[in-house]
Amino acid sequence: MCDFCDNIKDVEYIRKHPSWERVTEIAQTGENTFGLWVECEDYYYSGIAMKINFCPICGANLAQEALLKKERANNPYYQKYGFDF
Ligand SMILES: [Zn+2]
Repeated sequence: MCDFCDNIKDVEYIRKHPSWERVTEIAQTGENTFGLWVECEDYYYSGIAMKINFCPICGANLAQEALLKKERANNPYYQKYGFDF
């Protein structure tokens, strides 16, 4: 996991919070579906440019990483110590 795919946002959140600083981001469009979000000045063209399964920077499997993140959020050991036993 890299900085790019560590910051996955929900697609509805991105739609509700347009940003001039955002250029490209990974958006979660469903439970296990992800898309490459491209922000554009002309909002007709902004949105999901393509569906992706892997991070274009580091190649991480996004569905696996999202599942791991969810498990860690529910794991009291991980929350307390920062790693799993
Ligand atoms: Zn990555």
